[in-house]
Amino acid sequence: MLNLPTDTRPVYTIDVDDRLALINPAAANVFAPAAGNVTSLLGRSVWDFIPGTQIRQLWQVLYSRVRAAGVPVFVPMRADTPSLRRLVDLELHPLADRSIQHIYECVWTEARPAIALLDPQYPRDQRSLPSCAWCRRIQVRLGVWEEIEQAQQTLRIEAVETLPTLKPAVCVSCKQSVLKTFPARVA
Ligand SMILES: [Zn+2]
Repeated sequence: MLNLPTDTRPVYTIDVDDRLALINPAAANVFAPAAGNVTSLLGRSVWDFIPGTQIRQLWQVLYSRVRAAGVPVFVPMRADTPSLRRLVDLELHPLADRSIQHIYECVWTEARPAIALLDPQYPRDQRSLPSCAWCRRIQVRLGVWEEIEQAQQTLRIEAVETLPTLKPAVCVSCKQSVLKTFPARVA
């Protein structure tokens, strides 16, 4: 069974009002690397950590489907670090009291040369680049989304003193696939 405090997978639960009811240290890192500790996160609304109206609306759709159907949903997402491509399956498990347990199951990793754009310590300037919250691709021009390595070439981004800020967004194909995500029993 799940051992919450020591599980190395990020695991957290939101209650019926979408407040963080349980969170393990690995999930605290994912959620709020700056805050970084479990106690300061408990009781906070999950929406405090999800930027952007569109991203929020898609999570609301997923949560309402999980709660209505009472069966889990699996959401594939990229969760890269600067030097690692990572694909996770985010499992949303409905619990009896309408809370939802989230488990990040890492399903694939691949090493790569570190990408400065993904380094949270790197100084940023006023430019911003839309980055899809699900597939992590970058919008290089309206409606065109590329993997971050390709986007750096397309936009000729070099790691000089400062880099553009990555701004959470949703690409068209992820929006469509999230909207097509239904719990198995009602699909
Ligand atoms: Zn996307």
